[in-house]
Amino acid sequence: MGETVIPLADLRYAAPVPAIPADLTAPNGLLADRLGRPLRDLRISVTDRCNFRCSYCMPKDVFDRDYVFLPQTSLLSFEEIARLARIFVAHGVQKIRLTGGEPLLRKGLEGLVEMLSELRTPDGAPLDLTLTTNGSVLARKAKALSAAGLKRVTVSLDALDDVVFRRMNDVDFPVADVLDGIAAAQSAGLGPIKVNMVVKRGTNDHEIVAMARHFRHSGIVLRFIEYMDVGGSNGWRMDEVLPSARVLDLLRAQWPMQALDASMTGETAERWRYADGAGEIGLISSVTQAFCRDCNRARLSTEGKLFMCLFATAGHDLRTLLRQGRSDAEISAALGQVWAGRDDRYSELRAAQPADRGAGQRRVEMHYIGG
Ligand code: SF4
Repeated sequence: MGETVIPLADLRYAAPVPAIPADLTAPNGLLADRLGRPLRDLRISVTDRCNFRCSYCMPKDVFDRDYVFLPQTSLLSFEEIARLARIFVAHGVQKIRLTGGEPLLRKGLEGLVEMLSELRTPDGAPLDLTLTTNGSVLARKAKALSAAGLKRVTVSLDALDDVVFRRMNDVDFPVADVLDGIAAAQSAGLGPIKVNMVVKRGTNDHEIVAMARHFRHSGIVLRFIEYMDVGGSNGWRMDEVLPSARVLDLLRAQWPMQALDASMTGETAERWRYADGAGEIGLISSVTQAFCRDCNRARLSTEGKLFMCLFATAGHDLRTLLRQGRSDAEISAALGQVWAGRDDRYSELRAAQPADRGAGQRRVEMHYIGG
């Protein structure tokens, strides 16, 4: 009998099974955490696999040929995901974002989208159902995803130049195919489309103006994301962070810009528009302008571990509750208790964090819980 290979994810992230409160009625309904933040936004990772090796998320030297990804058996089924989503929605979730790894690599994803698109908030409104993708297979999938009920997509694109693009994602994939995916998503009505560019000083920051120029007058919102110390594998250094204020300076040197108000509480991007009406951009500044005070996001990993923060070191195992045959009321009460106990605000505290948080205190990897 060969030795059992335990996926790193199982080894790496402690996730105790949440206790079921004796009183199943409390907390119930809309929730608030210890900092008074409601639960509004659920990010669901549907796979830990990806066909890119972006240096800030899945560097090739770590996620190499020998890396052991999660076996199919440990992934939540679409029915399990939809059941959990229904419980989260009853607690106030209004927006669900499907992520990965690369979510479009999960077979039959349209089926899950269909299930989630049938959910309604307690006051009967449809969910804001969206998805983040690297765009590699979007051109083939956009129409079916839209038909299944997906509302919007966000596409990650870190450069227009193929050489720079390869330096960021470490695979040989043409930018043109990602742009085709974006065009297909636009034709399928999956908008307003957002494009996310992670800016790494010294690698792709010289592409900022070219990217902005490309998406002006397109109706697509281009967002610049500060390079973050997510996980424990990307070798993050502060001197590779280009502060968003600097990005804005570069854009203002080209075009007059006007600040816009946030479109909703908890929005991660600071919004700006071109004064000449050519569209909107966003700045996501987790490093230099933390936005934890309104953070209303929970993250569910592909095998059912719930994380309270992108920089968490441990989760809460909801899969075991599901597979133990627990009732919706029990899982709902357990979830309510977990959220009520939440006080995460890593980005606000980042500067005070010790560089080495000690063995076993690894931050969760982004490919595992989505951005
Ligand atoms: S660092 Fe954590 S708490 Fe702060 S905004 Fe990000 S996910 Fe939310």
